[in-house]
Amino acid sequence: MAEPHAIANYQPSTGYGLFDAEYDGARQELVVTVRCAFRFTAGNSEDFPAADPGALTWDDDSKSEWRKGFIDLIGARWSGTHAFRCTGAGLESLRAAVRVQVVEADRDWHFRLDVKRIPKGQWTGSSVTTHPGSKLETNHADLDSEDMTPTPKGGSEGQLGAVHEFGHMIGLGDEYGSGTKIAHRALVKDALGTEISKGTSDDVMSCANRVGKQHDVTFLEALKKATGVDEWIFAE
Ligand SMILES: [Zn+2]
Repeated sequence: MAEPHAIANYQPSTGYGLFDAEYDGARQELVVTVRCAFRFTAGNSEDFPAADPGALTWDDDSKSEWRKGFIDLIGARWSGTHAFRCTGAGLESLRAAVRVQVVEADRDWHFRLDVKRIPKGQWTGSSVTTHPGSKLETNHADLDSEDMTPTPKGGSEGQLGAVHEFGHMIGLGDEYGSGTKIAHRALVKDALGTEISKGTSDDVMSCANRVGKQHDVTFLEALKKATGVDEWIFAE
């Protein structure tokens, strides 16, 4: 394979998300990097009239604690879930374990994270907005300070909002509700041969936190682009 095995500012064919991907042949790793600018905003007292004002504002400690918690959580939940192997002639020894890292960046970021402070135990909706194409400093996520607290959504455990929203940042669509309109459906069919539908499950893009093979398909697509080799499949 020709060097380097990297692709910058990659938007999957789903039309959503943005990240860098680099295949490290020595470590047999696909490293996925999402550069994030963190912006912390105060909660609105009109939304939480009973809240102590201190519960709606950030200080330096709570900001850095949240930022570190997010970076650690995403790395832990999205890395190492699956691996890929190459089936190309002469390349059959190649493997790629997935490592995902969120890197703080004030410039050239893939996503700005607007994190609103809300009182502990409260819930507000979070979302990710991505624009078509590979342009930097255009996408953002609206999150809140409770997005790393499990919230019951109908799965067997509470969902961690941050882990779900990260799925959108790497190009996946929602799987809860009903129907078959799922942004990554065609990629899943291509990679796994299965036809997925929306529904209530423990899957991360549905109602809980399970990162399945169907959630690594944009990584597989990026690996093919980064290496210039199409013959990559799930290792097992
Ligand atoms: Zn969602």
